[in-house]
Amino acid sequence: MPEFCDVAVPVPLDMVFTYCVPADATPIVGGRVLVPFRQQRMTGIVVELHDRKPSVTTKSILRVLDRTAVLDEQLLHLGRWIADYYLAPIGEVFRTMLPLSAEFQRSIGYRLSPGGQMALHQAGLSGSSSRSRRTPEEQAAEFRVLDYLAGCESAPGKTDLIREETLRSATHVSKTMLAGMVRKKWLAREDVSAPRAATRTVTIAVLKSAEGKLNNNQRMLVDTLAASGGRVPVMTLQALELPRTTLSTLVRRGLVETVEESAVFTVSRSKPRPSLFDFDLSPAQQSALTSLREGIVTRKFAGMLLHGVTGSGKTAVYLAGMRGVLEAGRSAILLVPEIGLTPAVAADLHQIFGEEVAILHSALSDRDRAQQWHRIRRGEARMVVGTRSAVFAPVADLALIIVDEEHDSSYKQEETPRYHARDIAVMRAKMANAVVVMGSATPSLESYFNAKKNKYALIELPDRIEQRPLPEVEIIDMRQEFRETGHEQVISRKLAAEIKERLDHKEQVMVLLNRRGYSPVVLCRTCGKKLECQNCAIALTHHKREHKMVCHYCGYTAAVPQVCVHCGSEYVYFLGTGSEKLEELLHGMFPQARIARLDRDTVRSPRDFERALNALNEGELDLLVGTQMIAKGHDIHGVTLVGVVGADAALGLPDFRAAERTFQLLTQVAGRAGRGQTPGKVVLQTYFQDHYAVQYAARHDFVGFYEKELQFRCWMHYPPYSALANVLVRSDKLDDALEWSGTLGRWFETIRHEAVRVLGPAPAPILRLKRDYRYHFVLKSPSREKLNTTLRAMLAHAAQKKIPRTQVIVDVDALWLM
Ligand SMILES: [Zn+2]
Ligand SMILES: [Zn+2]
Repeated sequence: MPEFCDVAVPVPLDMVFTYCVPADATPIVGGRVLVPFRQQRMTGIVVELHDRKPSVTTKSILRVLDRTAVLDEQLLHLGRWIADYYLAPIGEVFRTMLPLSAEFQRSIGYRLSPGGQMALHQAGLSGSSSRSRRTPEEQAAEFRVLDYLAGCESAPGKTDLIREETLRSATHVSKTMLAGMVRKKWLAREDVSAPRAATRTVTIAVLKSAEGKLNNNQRMLVDTLAASGGRVPVMTLQALELPRTTLSTLVRRGLVETVEESAVFTVSRSKPRPSLFDFDLSPAQQSALTSLREGIVTRKFAGMLLHGVTGSGKTAVYLAGMRGVLEAGRSAILLVPEIGLTPAVAADLHQIFGEEVAILHSALSDRDRAQQWHRIRRGEARMVVGTRSAVFAPVADLALIIVDEEHDSSYKQEETPRYHARDIAVMRAKMANAVVVMGSATPSLESYFNAKKNKYALIELPDRIEQRPLPEVEIIDMRQEFRETGHEQVISRKLAAEIKERLDHKEQVMVLLNRRGYSPVVLCRTCGKKLECQNCAIALTHHKREHKMVCHYCGYTAAVPQVCVHCGSEYVYFLGTGSEKLEELLHGMFPQARIARLDRDTVRSPRDFERALNALNEGELDLLVGTQMIAKGHDIHGVTLVGVVGADAALGLPDFRAAERTFQLLTQVAGRAGRGQTPGKVVLQTYFQDHYAVQYAARHDFVGFYEKELQFRCWMHYPPYSALANVLVRSDKLDDALEWSGTLGRWFETIRHEAVRVLGPAPAPILRLKRDYRYHFVLKSPSREKLNTTLRAMLAHAAQKKIPRTQVIVDVDALWLM
């Protein structure tokens, strides 16, 4: 066995750490080990075993956690590539790739120290110490802790280590109090983190015998067990609403036994939709499927961009492709945007692929996620469907990765490592000689550009299924509406008339306003100041129903002001309209209509999202108001009118992707109209009616938009013509943020000639966010390699200047420059 192993530990440092391998341990590359790190124990991934003695003294690994690798050769390679490309610490990359945190319980334990024994003894003698500055309540609480620990004696004079959670729930004390007792040397504190079983268990009641005298309750329970083959989870028996003692009595009498079994994960408790789609493909779909299958059998990398208008049936192509992969005994991964994976979709997939499907999404508990991961790893589930991180699923013999709605911004992780799942999918497919399909009605500029450059094959689905027409779009110029009516209108006369007409015909309507809350701004007419968040340079939004002011960035809340908080004036005005107010307005205008709202305030989980869509589908709703959530790829046949009330506000923002995002949103929301028998219509209200993003969206002209936008990107040296990175320097102290950004700015001056353009330092568009002051640099270079080299050198310089690594955020291929 080699003497040393290099371990990637999940800490924000761009390095691996060398540990000794003890004689009795056999770590493996790609497996997890428990190691001491500073004062803690951590799980890391072994990346190399070697005999090169490091110059510094090394500690030993504490325990080998895996006998087989959890990251195979390819995933290790992918992880290294991510760390390199995104300049992310390798240990943090591996942690992101492995959803196994539930298998390791981080915990602190306490035991009584001699000082504590003494204190307890003295408290017993004198009641309490009179010199103490502590309140009687605090003294009583401390006494409870000492007394409790003294009672947990395992051997004479030695008490057990008690987990913090156990101790706190037994004695009702705060963490601060425990920390204080450690400082006084009354308690000893130790890290007791340990691996735990990955699988959730359930208690099963097993019928042993039905003989003997039983009362009514006992009889009911025994009969239920017998009727279900003698084994039923105890949870399920609760539906009988019997007293708890019924079961325990039967167990005591030996008639029923309870056993722990590892829980079988249920993909979805929802019923699949009855209209499960057929694989009756149109000629265009069939031809797309043929290209995809041809790519798969060659076992060579191929990238395909499936550009299909809204309603053209891309999903049918995906699922038919996956089914082919399954029949060939290979594996496929389908990535979907965050909100796309509702329980009903999961149920549909289960119906199609049976037990071969694994679902990975953010609403799963850590344990369920770990369990799904193991099913995939063992080869039990070869069809993986999930959000962003499912791109790391440990499938064997990967044949196909599909990225649905590839332009969706939820594929980009906005924390370290700041990876883009679409780009990882492409890289992983390359490593695995697999096919990657990116699908969208509004492909990202980058993907379409790559397709045009023949890096990807471009597959078009130009028509809606069954030759349904795309909806007609009418643009309403809101400046003119203002001139003609003399009022700032939320809903134009035209849109109001159209809504009324649809409602009269019992047709359904969606109205998009991409801003939640009631009023986005509270302004004082006397001093002109806005009510801002305490932690961010952001106006607080009024939420009427919750009766509070909320920061949409950090969650800070404040009371609704009666007078100006700055000058005390009574002339405070609530300005602007959010989705909550729009809903209220529509209620006022159409009192008979059944109206619901879909935004982050009404949707807390995919289940809420699904409930609202189901209501619309079942005809229980007439009108759905919402933010961009209503634009996401769902298929409601009764909607014939889409009103767009505010979707162009982004065009006023200092962000080079604003036009692209607006075009995508307008096209996607327009795509919700007329998916059934009746043709659809879109009424698009805008203040930017001449803007090309609005004009091309109204004409459903993706290619026109693409060409125009590409010209702008070319002139401005933005992606796809340049590789771009955003470097953000942040600190809760303004002086530090200024000094550090100055330091880096001076350093960037010295590398001027390196073919990397550096803009900045400049205050970030949101100068203060979550208490941090923020300054940023935008780096652009035609050479990805030069950009990467510069960023790496910049980080080295920052480290040399003692700027903390966590305060310099490098965002390669940033989607947001805010
Ligand atoms: Zn004021
Ligand atoms: Zn805030």
